[in-house]
Amino acid sequence: MKARVFVSAPLPGPALAGLAGRAEVVVGQTRLGLEDPAFARAADSFDAVVTLLTDRVDEARLGRAARLKVVANVAVGVDNVDLEACAARGVVVTNTPGVLTEATADLAFGLLLCAARRVCEGDRLVREGGFTGWSPTMLLGARVHGKALGIVGLGRIGQAVARRARGFGMHVLYAQPRPLAEGLARALGATHVSTKTLFAESDFVSLHCPLTPETRGLVGGALLASMKPGSVLVNTARGACIDEAALARSLVSGPLGAAGLDVFEDEPKVLPELVLRPNVVLTPHIGSADRETREKMASMAADNVMAVLEGREPPNRVR
Ligand code: NAP
Repeated sequence: MKARVFVSAPLPGPALAGLAGRAEVVVGQTRLGLEDPAFARAADSFDAVVTLLTDRVDEARLGRAARLKVVANVAVGVDNVDLEACAARGVVVTNTPGVLTEATADLAFGLLLCAARRVCEGDRLVREGGFTGWSPTMLLGARVHGKALGIVGLGRIGQAVARRARGFGMHVLYAQPRPLAEGLARALGATHVSTKTLFAESDFVSLHCPLTPETRGLVGGALLASMKPGSVLVNTARGACIDEAALARSLVSGPLGAAGLDVFEDEPKVLPELVLRPNVVLTPHIGSADRETREKMASMAADNVMAVLEGREPPNRVR
């Protein structure tokens, strides 16, 4: 009998067709993910699930999916999955690291540039007919070149952002629990500092840490208040790393000058105070959304599923 795999939503590229040749694949069509009736009504008939970061995999859900052997998350972050509950039930969890590093770094740097140089404000002004002639004082923004960039979490994506920053003549500060090996930090031109120092001394701060109990609400009122006047905060990590209400206040009364946000505390909701601010660039969680990257993420998830179902070690087991 073929194994049964539930895939939370249609995925780009050929990966699902490949999977369907080797297993019985049911693809959720409702945008409800694991709440799709096709899964919810028959959870105990599936051997594997391919999940999105919007799917909560918790004890209650696992309890209803007694045959489940693998949760293949189509994301590098696994904050949506209760790893302990999976381990206790012998369910393997996999993710898609590395393949989305450069795409996410591209977007982070794009948000940094757009927020600093007021690109979206300029776009709106032109579309609304407000561009009535060149002016030496119109839409003055923050200089990027040569400034200090603070990276919270200098892992795969953080390092890819640091490499881009070097091309802009920026110097990089970074904060994370374990400093990088000296040679690697030197090659990136990155100096390890405390989180407090990073926020106080950077002109730009970009978050690239995972969402964990330690990083939930990491950027609150106190850190925001310590930032340089006119500084820019970029978040392509997870929304809940920032206290969004405090961020909105800082964007109104300073010291923060602007922000670029791809992720939000309670997606897909976005705080109205943020939507109303002209000095925030907002994107709908599209960090990894270039076509090649998304197709590779899908094929990695499919490979992870088949490895576990065939009794092999999956390439991307989360430990
Ligand atoms: P990674 O290679 O594991 O890097 C994470 C880095 O964060 C590590 O260097 C880690 O340092 C550091 N870190 C851990 N705890 C920290 C803390 N308390 N304070 C500061 N730094 C901390 O992961 P990655 O592949 O770069 O991905 C990072 C995150 O980006 C993912 O977890 C995901 O949430 C997010 N992401 C978002 C998108 C998007 O679409 N917007 C796309 C991809 C990824 P240690 O080595 O010292 O633990």
